Amino acid sequence: MASEYDGIILGTGHNALVLQAYLCRCGLKVLSLDRAETFGGGLATVENPRQPGFWHNTHSFFHRALTAMPWYRDLQLEEQGAKYVEPELNVAMVLKDGRSLQWWTDFERTYESFCKFSRRDADALRRWRDEFRPILGGILIPEARSSPLPGELRQDLLSRSAPGRRLLEVAALSPLEFVEREFENDVVRAGLLFFNGLREVDLRQKGFGHSIPSLLASDHMAQMCVGGSKRLAEALVADIREHGGEVRTSAEPRAILVRGERVRGVELTTGERIETSGFVASGLNPQQTFLKLLDADVSGETLRKQASSFQYNLLAPLFALNLALKEPPKYAAAERDPELAKAFMVILGLEQFGQFGEIVAAHEAGKIPATVMWGACPTQFDSTQAPAGGHTAFMWEKLPYAVNGDAANWASLAQQHGEGMLKLWTEYAPNLAEAVIDSFVRTPLDTERSLPNMQFGDLLVGSFANGQVGENRPFAGAGRYRTPIDGLYLCGGSTHPGGNVTGLCGYNAARVVAADLNCPVWWNPPDAEQALRSLT
Ligand SMILES: Cc1cc2nc3c(=O)[nH]c(=O)nc-3n(C[C@H](O)[C@H](O)[C@H](O)COP(=O)(O)OP(=O)(O)OC[C@H]3O[C@@H](n4cnc5c(N)ncnc54)[C@H](O)[C@@H]3O)c2cc1C
Repeated sequence: MASEYDGIILGTGHNALVLQAYLCRCGLKVLSLDRAETFGGGLATVENPRQPGFWHNTHSFFHRALTAMPWYRDLQLEEQGAKYVEPELNVAMVLKDGRSLQWWTDFERTYESFCKFSRRDADALRRWRDEFRPILGGILIPEARSSPLPGELRQDLLSRSAPGRRLLEVAALSPLEFVEREFENDVVRAGLLFFNGLREVDLRQKGFGHSIPSLLASDHMAQMCVGGSKRLAEALVADIREHGGEVRTSAEPRAILVRGERVRGVELTTGERIETSGFVASGLNPQQTFLKLLDADVSGETLRKQASSFQYNLLAPLFALNLALKEPPKYAAAERDPELAKAFMVILGLEQFGQFGEIVAAHEAGKIPATVMWGACPTQFDSTQAPAGGHTAFMWEKLPYAVNGDAANWASLAQQHGEGMLKLWTEYAPNLAEAVIDSFVRTPLDTERSLPNMQFGDLLVGSFANGQVGENRPFAGAGRYRTPIDGLYLCGGSTHPGGNVTGLCGYNAARVVAADLNCPVWWNPPDAEQALRSLT
């Protein structure tokens, strides 16, 4: 049978779609396949079946610095209807006594807010932000937007320049050590760790001390997609289709077909076989790709062992409470500071640094800790996500996947836990007592059920511990998007630079696949090695 496609991509998460869009613009005919009924994976916005017109972002919502991503510009996604807003009071951590620690898009306003807690810490914030701006722009951004460099070369290049050496020195710490060493105020420490740390990596993990200062140095903060996260997926798919690509949903792969030591196609669970003359790229996790979809004779013992050793984040799973409302949450603290009514991300329940130890210990024991939660009211910034006058809001909490030892326990715990979150939320925003029209919860088990690549509910699709970073993400030998199987590539969150909505896994994979297929690279990707060599 003649091969109809130059390439097939497994999954339609945003990384897969970014890869597909670049390759379609290279003139390749590429098909993507997803088991779900809708494309986009973590870019889901779903209509409330009981309350038509209320739309909920059941996976990702806060898209950090999305409009600064190179693919957003290269693919001209605004011409396909994508539009982002970045509210000015970007994050507010509201305390029980009504005070709040605030992050603004205008750094001077953030500085003022930190000064109310500690002038010394506000000065430290400014110092670290200034010091890390060239490190972020000159090293970390080019690195995130390129295939990872070999570890020894990276170390060597970094050690030749002052910013490189500084990065290595700070990175050697854990985020926890960084914050303990550099900041003194309990609220500031808790806020920095939560806002910048707990969401991304295990705070105790050495090698990540730079994560907090690099986030402080960023020009962009959390953004949201107008119309809901799904609008970004729709814009990507519109671009793909305009350039001849195909996106098929409700199509679950059963096997990756390999003949003569080269990938030849994909077989679906229906028995349908789809051939390719070029490549298969998997946006799924390593266990799905190498253990479930490849024949054991093809993958071999070493690869299977490496894939089965790939680990997931203990602290990543989220529990979500979603609300349909008559009016937005009105925080009592806004009586003292009216600006709070405009806050985008709101953090509740976090008062002091020591809570982190308790949260980590609870996760390790599979227990539910005292609630610390964060969320938003999307309709305050985008009225299209609810009927006229109505609002949606949500809160997320990090909770263990295997609660009380078994994820199945969520069936009996979820409803009650959601009620507890609403009770706590109402203490901060008393109008919620009367404003709720409808609510539903989503557990870490629901995350895994809807997106099985997020094993154990790990929304980052793989831990950053276990050495799973850079060229060793997901594991040595598959860390630059190529795999040991000829023609088989990886492009999802389990590759460098990792999970979250950055699209950079797909962006970096596009360059590798295009090079291997001798396609012209029509875009202008950065070169990490060159960037590091040019440091002085
Ligand atoms: C509750 C929640 C909140 C989040 N909030 C944020 C946030 O605010 N900001 C942020 O940046 N990130 C957030 N994330 C994380 C973010 O959604 C993910 O890291 C990101 O979506 C990963 O992208 P990806 O391209 O790897 O694939 P995914 O988005 O995970 O998509 C994978 C795709 O593969 C498909 N698939 C899975 N298994 C198969 C199979 N066997 N066969 C075929 N297809 C399959 C799925 O249906 C899906 O479409 C959140 C995640 C969750 C769950």
